Amino acid sequence: MATNAALSSPLVLRILAASVNVSFKAGDIIRDIMKSGDLGIVEKGPKDLQTEADRAAQRCIIASLHKQFPKVAIFGEEQLDPSDQIPDDYVCKELAPDVLAHPCPDCYRDVQDEQIVIWVDPLDGTAEFTQGLLDHVTVLIGIAINGEAKAGVVYQPYYNYEQGDDAKLGRCIWGLVGLGSFGFEPKLPPADRHLITTTRSHSDWIVTSAVHACGPRGPSGDPEEGIVRVGGAGHKVLLIIEGKAHAYVFASKGCKKWDTCAPEAVLTAIGGRLTDICGNPILYHSEVQRKNLGGVLATVADHAWYTGKMTDEIKQGFESDKVSEKMKEWKLKQAQKEAEINAGQGDAMPDKNFEGSSVDPLPNDSPKL
Ligand code: AMP
Ligand code: MG
Ligand code: MG
Repeated sequence: MATNAALSSPLVLRILAASVNVSFKAGDIIRDIMKSGDLGIVEKGPKDLQTEADRAAQRCIIASLHKQFPKVAIFGEEQLDPSDQIPDDYVCKELAPDVLAHPCPDCYRDVQDEQIVIWVDPLDGTAEFTQGLLDHVTVLIGIAINGEAKAGVVYQPYYNYEQGDDAKLGRCIWGLVGLGSFGFEPKLPPADRHLITTTRSHSDWIVTSAVHACGPRGPSGDPEEGIVRVGGAGHKVLLIIEGKAHAYVFASKGCKKWDTCAPEAVLTAIGGRLTDICGNPILYHSEVQRKNLGGVLATVADHAWYTGKMTDEIKQGFESDKVSEKMKEWKLKQAQKEAEINAGQGDAMPDKNFEGSSVDPLPNDSPKL
């Protein structure tokens, strides 16, 4: 039964409270499916996997939010059959009281259903989920108002999983621009190094060039030690807000609106920024192109410094033939290297920084910026 406080709260706060609540259930579903051992993996495209956990978590989140907010547009990453049976216990109708306990910033008081779009990534970091890198996984529910990421939930179902069997798994980080973000301890990154986080499974020549253009630097001064290659857009933004990286740099069209809406809102609510790599805002209207065609750049501070490091070659690299040629060359060299390693002829053992990862390190002879 909804309380009076719940019923009288502004729509945006109620949607956020429902999203926080349903993220816990989605986390339970994801953990149960992993425990069952039957992931039901489907290949949606090259390097693009879907598991039963992605499907089931999306059914739960969308059914729950749609039931409570039938006039609000909701987009989920997974293409599912609308006639799928949804178990009754997947439909959550409670609102998280700790969200409703906060005052709603005045600017949201009159926001109506038609102004809102909800972007759902039921399981961000699927590749890592299937590989057992469980802390890379997040559930993302982003709430856009008039096309801007304003509220978001980033639920990490395996937070604490390395602390032993007794540890309580999972945590929920949520934020509302104008109110703040909650569920974590904000920290500044270390000053004696420059840590850039990026993809570990969707790298290419431009992605790697853009990271190097920002001057990553580990404690010994080594650029490679300053690159934090991990999975998931949600997870990378968590690294930034918790001081484990200075910037998230992804010069690729691979990320979609459901990957960035929730993390952007959480980051913006603490004063950070998430844009394309040129600093242009990412928009989240319902009719918008799903792909983030200009890439992703997220920072807590000094955003303009990073956009300034993106050379024309990188910026145009998304489209230009010249760079495509370089990309082809680079891919060919990578394939040759891999073939040599597989045939046991190569002396190029993967660097320790890439252990357990399918990432393509920047080759020594790749074009310098
Ligand atoms: P990553 O940093 O590689 O984990 O990517 C962050 C998010 O963007 C994940 O949801 C990925 O599935 C998605 N993504 C990035 N690049 C691609 C790509 N080339 N194809 C499909 N999905 C991608
Ligand atoms: Mg994703
Ligand atoms: Mg996903």
